[in-house]
Amino acid sequence: MAALLLSAVVAGWLSMFEYCPFSSTRPTFAPPRDPIRSESDPLAGDALKRGLWSLDTVALRDFGIGRHRQVDDTPAGGGAGMVLRADVVAAALDAARATAAEAPAIYLSPRGEPLTQALVRDFAATPGLILLAGRFEGLDQRVVEARALREVSIGDYVLSGGELAAMVLIDAVVRLLPGVVGKAASLNEESFEAGLLEYPQYTRPREWEGVEIPQVLLSGDHKRIAEWRRAEAERITRERRPDLWRARGRKDK
Ligand code: SAM
Repeated sequence: MAALLLSAVVAGWLSMFEYCPFSSTRPTFAPPRDPIRSESDPLAGDALKRGLWSLDTVALRDFGIGRHRQVDDTPAGGGAGMVLRADVVAAALDAARATAAEAPAIYLSPRGEPLTQALVRDFAATPGLILLAGRFEGLDQRVVEARALREVSIGDYVLSGGELAAMVLIDAVVRLLPGVVGKAASLNEESFEAGLLEYPQYTRPREWEGVEIPQVLLSGDHKRIAEWRRAEAERITRERRPDLWRARGRKDK
């Protein structure tokens, strides 16, 4: 099993662009270390150590223009903020492409298609990904089109940069890679996998602050437990996420 995993995920499997605000003014500063690559992270960090995935970062600054390595400029037509230049972004993207020829290029963007578990599953099945994190007002539209960037959003809110969005995507994808999460079955039962949110979980003690674990979970009757969990997953999905519930209904037809 290990050989299969290794060939799929090592060596430039993920490339992330990092805009490091420290690099030009304080060259001695190392780019901030992200939590996902921390060795103390029991899933992604540990899987990285085991060679199940890898991450190369490319600093946009390295492709900047002139003495100040400028990566942005004022918006055409006026308005607030700055826009990342198409020529700079394209040069950085092309450099990443040289080591990841087949990888889809994704631009983390609030305008993108929503990141869902289904999309995460698709990404986990690719040989690799190139992730582009924007800053300021975003990218010059021409590079989005010229490099066929797929725009993906992690939610209906605006972050100040795409790096955290890229971390979210990476974390969700890495835990689906074979060998990362101990028991594959635990992934299948998670929220969204069957178009449902997960049922409630309990553990010891049997009674806590006067509240008992539901009797059925202590019965040892696996069929009844499965039925109870299914019914609870359906109830919670109906109550909390009518959109998911309706989408399920449509799929079942
Ligand atoms: N002017 C842009 C807009 O209104 O759509 C927002 C730019 S935002 C301040 C800067 C960068 O953060 C974006 O280029 C993108 O890479 C990232 N970003 C912000 N919100 C995001 C989200 N919800 N999902 C993914 N990336 C996001």
